[in-house]
Amino acid sequence: MDFRKQGNAYVLILKIGEELLTTLTRFAKEENIIAGSIHAIGALRDFELGYYYLDKKEYGRTKFNEIAELISCSGNLASRDGNPFVHIHVAMGREDFTVIGGHLFSGIVAVTAEVMLFPFPEKMERTYDERTGLFLLNCKEE
Ligand code: ZN
Repeated sequence: MDFRKQGNAYVLILKIGEELLTTLTRFAKEENIIAGSIHAIGALRDFELGYYYLDKKEYGRTKFNEIAELISCSGNLASRDGNPFVHIHVAMGREDFTVIGGHLFSGIVAVTAEVMLFPFPEKMERTYDERTGLFLLNCKEE
């Protein structure tokens, strides 16, 4: 991965074979970025998507062993239990131009990933929410 700072923002260029979520999480840790907004385009292979079933309070997970365009990737960086936590949703464009999408569990860069990371100055914490069974963003002042 190469990166360049652009004012307060970062441009990250991921290379073939790098896993998107772990690379971004590691980068946030190394650069001490505590929170932010994430946008990306590129192409991924062997990606796993999730759909959340609120009634069961669990994700249905499906692995796609194919290469698809990362048409849109939007997400955020926050903290969970003191560690950086990257939450990303994706729209993936297939060879036949249909689109699938969902919560991203993992994805390997197939061609490139052009990531724009916009850091926030203050921490954003994820805390467990009984109603949904998820660690949701908590915007309450501490
Ligand atoms: Zn999600």
